[in-house]
Amino acid sequence: MAGGLVIRDAGASELSPEAAAMKNVSNTVAGLGLAADPSAVAAATANRSGARSSRDLARDAKTLIVSASIAGNDTAAEAKAKADQAAAEKAAQAKAKAEAAAKAKAEAKRRAIALAHRWVMPLSGYTLTSGFGFRWGKMHPAQDLACPVGTPVHALSSGKVIFAGWSNEGYGYMVKIQYWDGTVSWMAHNSRLLVSLGDRVVPGQTVSYSGSTGNSTGPHVHLEIHPGDGSAVAPRTWLAKRGVQL
Ligand SMILES: [Zn+2]
Repeated sequence: MAGGLVIRDAGASELSPEAAAMKNVSNTVAGLGLAADPSAVAAATANRSGARSSRDLARDAKTLIVSASIAGNDTAAEAKAKADQAAAEKAAQAKAKAEAAAKAKAEAKRRAIALAHRWVMPLSGYTLTSGFGFRWGKMHPAQDLACPVGTPVHALSSGKVIFAGWSNEGYGYMVKIQYWDGTVSWMAHNSRLLVSLGDRVVPGQTVSYSGSTGNSTGPHVHLEIHPGDGSAVAPRTWLAKRGVQL
């Protein structure tokens, strides 16, 4: 070919209008036997190579997918962190709730025990007569409480009836109660008993009605206190230490 210039023929669809025009110019130049302008040829070639190869596109897509995956991992990690935090908060709330419930339960138990272990008066109305000590040269191990026949006699605290019946030793109808702390009370000369052996009693429960049965010179309650079911002690002193002023 004249001029020696060869421009590979390209389909019109691959060329921009400018490149197509350039091709025509080149052909014309070639036809004229003149050298083509190198920059014009380069422009035409660049235009063709401007379309990116499918391999390039695939590589770019892969990069994007990898980036998206990393971004996806980040989001999942954040979601997990949030879920973990929410679970931790929920657990903390449940723990606080359980602790509050346990505290309330312990408080209720404490109150119930305090209520069951409280000490109360044996009678609501009485007159102190013979006290604990020697009387006419003989030991009187009790506090006598004069009161009308039929006055309700109360358990001093929570306990169990260990004797309820007629005494052959001069006490008449008697009730013995062993309390929660081991102390035993004797309440003698009753006219009537309301409890039986083995009965459980609560503070203030009426266990008998007062009287003058057995060796008694008049209606009264003969009250003895035996700590640990042992020797009798002064009832007023013992009760005073427990907040009960006879
Ligand atoms: Zn007495």
